[in-house]
Amino acid sequence: MSHQFNKRSISEQPATATVTFNHLGVPVSTEFDDIYFNNENGLAESRYVFLQHNDLPTRWQTSLHSTFTVAETGFGTGLNFLACWQLFQQTAPANQRLHFISFEKYPLVKADLERALSAFPELAAFAQALLDAYPAAQTGCHRLQFDNNRVIIDLWFGDIHEQLPNWLPNAENSVDAWFLDGFAPDKNPQMWQANVYQAMAKSCRPSGTFATFTAAGAVRRGLQEAGFAVTKAKGFGRKREMLRGLIHKETTITPRPPETVTIVGGGIAAACLAWSFTQRGYPVHLLTQGIADGASGNAQGAVYPLLHAELSPLSQFYVSAFDHARQFYQSNCPNLWHATGVIQLAFNAIREQRQQKIADSGCYAPDLVRSLTAAETQQVWEYLPALPALFYPNSGWVPPQRLVQQILQNCGARLAITEVSEITELQQTASNTWRLDASSGKRYEASTLIVAAGANTSTLLAQWQIETQNVRGQVTQVAATEVSASCPMVVCYKGYFTPAENHNGELTHCVGATYNREFKQESYQNIEPADTEENLLTLQDNLAQAWTLPLNAVNNRASLRNTTRDHLPACGWLTDNLGVVSGLGSRGFTSAPLCAELLVSQWLGEPQPLADALIKRLVPQRLQVDSA
Ligand code: SAM
Repeated sequence: MSHQFNKRSISEQPATATVTFNHLGVPVSTEFDDIYFNNENGLAESRYVFLQHNDLPTRWQTSLHSTFTVAETGFGTGLNFLACWQLFQQTAPANQRLHFISFEKYPLVKADLERALSAFPELAAFAQALLDAYPAAQTGCHRLQFDNNRVIIDLWFGDIHEQLPNWLPNAENSVDAWFLDGFAPDKNPQMWQANVYQAMAKSCRPSGTFATFTAAGAVRRGLQEAGFAVTKAKGFGRKREMLRGLIHKETTITPRPPETVTIVGGGIAAACLAWSFTQRGYPVHLLTQGIADGASGNAQGAVYPLLHAELSPLSQFYVSAFDHARQFYQSNCPNLWHATGVIQLAFNAIREQRQQKIADSGCYAPDLVRSLTAAETQQVWEYLPALPALFYPNSGWVPPQRLVQQILQNCGARLAITEVSEITELQQTASNTWRLDASSGKRYEASTLIVAAGANTSTLLAQWQIETQNVRGQVTQVAATEVSASCPMVVCYKGYFTPAENHNGELTHCVGATYNREFKQESYQNIEPADTEENLLTLQDNLAQAWTLPLNAVNNRASLRNTTRDHLPACGWLTDNLGVVSGLGSRGFTSAPLCAELLVSQWLGEPQPLADALIKRLVPQRLQVDSA
């Protein structure tokens, strides 16, 4: 099976909005010469036009679906989103979720967003949460979650005409209400086009609605042609008229009945999956040999994106995955997310060239990654060598084992964990369930099963001949010295070095990691003195030279990372009830939260958090032996 990645769907980093503030403090777009919201009372207009005329919150009380989905053209300042979220929090049934999707061609920079939203003190708490989560201005989807995953927003940055084809194939029959915003049609005719109305119609659930502030004839006719029954309503304030509408469809969509989802695995992928399913109301049964005892068990792990000098599928995936992971840890495990930044030293000429290309590519926003000169590197921390570098300001590190434990704890009563011996076989039963045989002789059965088993992936999926490779890695913990303890961020070179952390009363750093494709399966956990030496020598050569003091190893740990040949995760469904999240390599803490969201969204038929072509890139079927 091969998937073509559509090059035309890759666009450069979007331009951010150029905004001025008028004498009333209302933001005005330079690109469109129009105001973002009403001069007199933007919040009241937002509530009147979009919330009231889509019949919210009445529909929240009667919805058949546990998730109510709103989509919007033009995120702008996020005022509509915040107003909707506030009303949802105040009035929706406790077991209902809100999924908000918004397209934005020119994302506001954070400072403008903050200033614009400061006009609405009653939304202050919501605005702060949005500001904390606000992603880098990168083309593509950014999924943010709030209120313990009860409220999700997918921000699709880029021109709506470019992004709709990335989104729509996985969003048909899923939207309950459209907010058709986007500056006045005469100021922005490029946006108000038939393909947008058609996409609105296709994406609507039966009885989906829309509301818009404009009553322009061309808009009314376009929406009617797309299939909406359109009516005029009294406009807000001094505006005469606005439009609202309803779609009629024959399709019937039955919500998925409650069912326990079984997950095999105990690392970050399994934990994130458990979180995404339980927060949507589905019970989860986790079968694991141990919690975070494989590649997710190291003391410290960096979280930062893997980037190419072009917006390749790999870069696009990691841009979205990184932003999601950062926000996920920050909001769900704030005590374990260390937003220190990550610096990547150009430790040789080839690396310098490669890093320079990334910096010069114009593909990345400066709050995602920027380049530093040798002098700037030393300003970051005086003990760094004088080398040019890439700096990821919003990146950081997590303590993997504690993080996995905390995510599992956050899942609450819907999660059951069973410690099992190695699962050696997987078989489909006559009734289309999965039977799992453990080496102890015990058997388990699952109606929906997800394999998130890291190094055991290929064994468990033997009958599908999914090829992943295990690579042994040894990490060395060293005791901190006075100099090393002042290291303010994760430093990557040929290896990596983490800021000091207190371990049982001792300040230590993690130095990693070796990368051995050849190892003995039965003894991979044994500590190899040669690997300890390699970690320390690489550190000494690249970094610690300048510190004069050698660092002493106090502990070592070896585990297997599960990797794929194209460095992208394996994430998707092999059958309608057998899912896979594996092959996360050395970046599991960056990619797992988004992979989990993708898998659960696919299972539930919810709009998905990545472009269609990227989703196809991730399918585990691509790794089948005969698919190369
Ligand atoms: N809903 C916003 C709010 O709550 O603040 C206000 C939206 S503002 C009036 C219109 C937005 O539509 C602007 O942010 C603009 O950049 C965006 N926009 C205009 N044309 C677009 C296009 N072709 N694709 C995506 N977004 C577009």
